[in-house]
Order: sequence, then C-alpha cells, then structure tokens
Amino acid sequence: MDCDAIVIGAGISGLYQLYRLRELGLKVRVFEAGTGVGGTWYWNRYPGARFDSESYSYGYSFSQELLDEWHWTEHFSPQPQTFKYLNYVADKFDLRRDIQFKSRVAAAHYSEATRSWEITLEDGRRHGARFLITAIGPLSAPTMPRIEGIDTFEGQSCHTARWPHEPVGFEGKRVAVIGTGATGVQTIQEVAKTAGTLTVFQRTPNWCAPLHNARIGEEEMREIRSRYPEIFERCRETFACFLHTPDPRATSEVTPEEREALFEKLYDNRGFGMWQGNFRDILVDRKANALVSDFVARKIRQRVKDPKVAEMLIPRNHGFGTRRVPLETRYYEVYNQPNVTLVDISRTPIERIMPTGIKTSDSEYEFDMIIYATGFDAITGSFDRIDIRGADGLRLKDKWKGGPKTWLGVQVEGFPNMFMVMGPHTALGNIPRSIEYNVEWVTGLIRHMREHGLTRAECRPEGVKAWTEHVKALGEGLLSNEIDSWMTGINRNVDGKETRIVARYSGSAPAYRARCDEVAANGYREMALS
Ligand code: NAP
Repeated sequence: MDCDAIVIGAGISGLYQLYRLRELGLKVRVFEAGTGVGGTWYWNRYPGARFDSESYSYGYSFSQELLDEWHWTEHFSPQPQTFKYLNYVADKFDLRRDIQFKSRVAAAHYSEATRSWEITLEDGRRHGARFLITAIGPLSAPTMPRIEGIDTFEGQSCHTARWPHEPVGFEGKRVAVIGTGATGVQTIQEVAKTAGTLTVFQRTPNWCAPLHNARIGEEEMREIRSRYPEIFERCRETFACFLHTPDPRATSEVTPEEREALFEKLYDNRGFGMWQGNFRDILVDRKANALVSDFVARKIRQRVKDPKVAEMLIPRNHGFGTRRVPLETRYYEVYNQPNVTLVDISRTPIERIMPTGIKTSDSEYEFDMIIYATGFDAITGSFDRIDIRGADGLRLKDKWKGGPKTWLGVQVEGFPNMFMVMGPHTALGNIPRSIEYNVEWVTGLIRHMREHGLTRAECRPEGVKAWTEHVKALGEGLLSNEIDSWMTGINRNVDGKETRIVARYSGSAPAYRARCDEVAANGYREMALS
C-alpha cells in the first residue's frame, strides 16, 4: 500500500473527496485519465456546453471563502467558466499535488489478505490503498453509434465528450450533428450560428424547455452571495436539490385557465422550472402529462415556421419530462434558418458513414465535419469499463448483470472498502449538491473506522436487498420508467444495454439523506465493520 485512499477521477466528486480525506489526515492519491481537473467539465468542451442549473446552486458550498471569491458571470455557467472554476478550486486548496493525470485506471482488485485495493493503470503501473473511492461520474463513458463505415469518414469527426482542446471553427463548413439529447441541443443551437450548413440527424425528438440564460453583473453577484445560505437551504429541502420543486397542486385541482397560466409562467422562467417546478402530477399521471405535453407542442408549432418540421420536432413516443428535458436557447428557431436541415432518421435511417459524408436510406449527404452527440453508457458504464473485482474475485460488471445492486448507492456486497460517489442508486438530481453529501458521508464513515481502529467495511446482504428493492419500488408509477433513455439504462450502442434496468434512485433527496444519516447516527451498525 502506498497510500491510505485511492480516488478514481478528478471531477467535482474526486476533488472534494480528496479535500475531505486530506482533512482527516489521510494520504490520498487521485488518478485521473485527463490531463487536467474538471471531469465532466474537462471532457465536455463541445460548443455551447453549459450548466442547465443555476450556477450559484451548482458550485461547491463547503467553503465560505470560495463562495465569497467566485463570481459566476452567467446564470447558467458556460463550460469554459466552469472549467476555470474547477481549476481555481484545485489551486486554491492545493489539490493538484495529490492528483496523477494521464492515468486511466484499467483495473481495481481487492485483496482480503491485506484488506486493501490494488489498482492497475492502463500503462501497467500499480498502486495500493486501504480504501478505494470511485468518483467516476454517472455520465462519463461516451458511446459512439454502431454505424457501418464510421472509421472511413475523411473529414473531421468527434464525439461531444471527446471534443478537442484546440478551438474548432464552423465557418463555411458543412456540419452534421447526430443526436438530439441535452448535448445535441446545446451543440446544434451553437453550431447553427456560424456553420455554412448544418444537418441534424434526429432519431427521437426530445421535449425541450427554454433556459432563459442571462449575464450576472457585479451587483447582482453581490446580491446572490448574500443569499447563498438561503439558496443552499432551499436545495437541501427540495425533492431533487434543485431551486425548483413541484407545485403542490395537481393539474385536476385548478381551472384550465390557472393551469395554462402556470405553464406559461414556467415556460417564461429560467431553468428547470417547467420540468421540476410543475404540477405535482405531470410525471405520474398520463392525463396531466398529456396536458403539459400539449402545451409544449403548441409552443413548438408557434416557434417553428415550417409546420412539417415542427411536427418532426414534437415527440410522439414519450410525454414531456419523462426523459431528461434539454434546456434550450432559440433551439427551435434554428430550424427556421435557411442553412439548417432536419433529417428524421427514424423514417430514413442512416445506412452508413461514407468517406465524404452520410448515406441514409433515401439520400447521400456530403460533410466536412460529423459531430456525434450520441450520449453515454450511463450510470454503470464507467464502472463496466474498469475491471473491478471484489473479495471473491467476482467482477463487478458480472455482479451487476441485470441491474446494479447496491447499499445506499454507496457500497456493493463483496467489495469491502470500496465506496462510490455518485454511483448507481444514489440521489442524483442537482449533482454537486448530491456529491457534497455523498463525499461527506463517505468521509464520516472513514473517520469512524479510523477512530475505532477498523480496517474493513462492507455492507450486509440484507441491506443490499432492502435498498435495491426500495429503489425499484420508488420508480414504480413514474412515467419515466416506461420510457427508453439513459435514465432507464438503455443504450443500444452497447451490448447488454437493450433492456431497462433500475439504476437510478428516484426518491427524494431529503429522504435519501435521512436514511444515510440514520445509518451514521447508529454508529454504522448496519454494516459489517471489523
Ligand atoms: P442522450 O440524452 O443519451 O442523447 C443521445 C442522443 O443520441 C439521442 O438523441 C439518441 O437518439 C442519439 N443516438 C444515440 N445513438 C444513436 C444512433 N446509433 N443513431 C442515431 N442517433 C443516436 O445523451 P446526451 O445528450 O449526451 O445527454 C446525456 C445526459 O447528460 C443528459 O440527459 C443530461 O443529464 C447530461 N447533460 C447535461 C447537460 C447540462 O447540464 N448542461 C448538458 C448535456 C448533457 P435516441 O433518443 O433515439 O436514442
């Protein structure tokens, strides 16, 4: 063992975990595949990448000094500023000295004899530690589509999560974007500004809502700073830690006029309000969901001039909010531009990528650049990509066949001393808020172990069974659980990810924290500690 704890990943989770464990006096090493810190915000530097949550609710809350010093320049921080922020954090807390960059972890094996973990980097170097903390993110394993000829394209091509560090210009170029999830939408609306032509290949339209971003001046930032305690208090109280939380009324409890008025208000307000701040029944009741879907469909028809294109942009196979809602800035208006074409590949599928472009079942298109906004092998994908083996040599990937089984989303039976930050079955929602909680909980457990001279921590099988069943039960009745998306574990670009699983905790964040707090308050008696 060359240190006490190994953390995989130097994103928002890994940086904070390092900070907290160091405070306990542990010797910590962080291994990061990238050349710098930032995780999601290091990799996803595609044009238009930005927060979809209010910046001041989406940074770290643990340091008053940091809150006092940092100026968010926009209500929804653009990637370059977020990247700068995370670098500022790394410098301010002198985190870099314990981070090894360009170090992708290929394997992590537990040894019962030493009660420790040994990791192997892609280059073969090995490191050992008592504790292993995975801070590898729920959306960090990008997936390319399985299309014939994909390697034959002679122009420039790139997945959005592997965007080059050098600036990429679109002026005069013929650009294709495949994929219309939250990433595709952000990319499309930005690329459309300068591309010679932009052709969007859409398989499934998504329901989007306006972001309403705006700049934040000095005075407004001062005012926001004065409200930080209130902002974080609100995030602690709301269902998914967002500033937005469902309206307590059901659609059936108001008049049609009142209903429309709230829809209009939410559509005009910034952020996730339309999704997270809507009537309490829109995500569970089909009739209520149809009402909000109809409202957004009307907005799309109003905003897109060509009625045929408008109809193509209206989802038919799922209702509003049953997949993650992309937030947009003049996204629908992009399709009114003469340089932009929408291709419905559910009707005319892509047959192959050619050296010069893309061939669908009815046309051939020539491009200078193809952008793949085709998403991630979500939640479990980043775990699957590492050969993680527990006490009996069992591979985590095999253990999780058919869906992950966890205890509190933090531990897996048979994988002692391994703790997951933002693993499956943990409350996601406003992710930095959930990260801070997860990290602090893991830190509390490690503190407890050190204070009591304990060297092995493992969850109990009955705990795993109960938590996994609880998470499954929470999802019952949610319309989103009937829909294919990364949230239900579907990714047809990955073998074995064709059937829905329950990988996501869909209960409330306060309830999640209450359960975890209870475990800590009872001295972690629910775990096997020795
Ligand atoms: P995504 O939501 O999974 O979308 C992937 C897109 O690619 C979908 O439109 C999908 O079509 C399409 N696609 C995948 N494989 C394809 C294939 N073989 N052929 C044609 N089309 C294909 O991924 P994402 O947009 O990267 O977003 C993932 C998540 O990351 C988001 O939901 C969000 O949670 C997070 N995110 C956050 C932000 C933010 O906070 N600002 C920004 C971006 C992303 P189908 O729908 O038909 O499968």
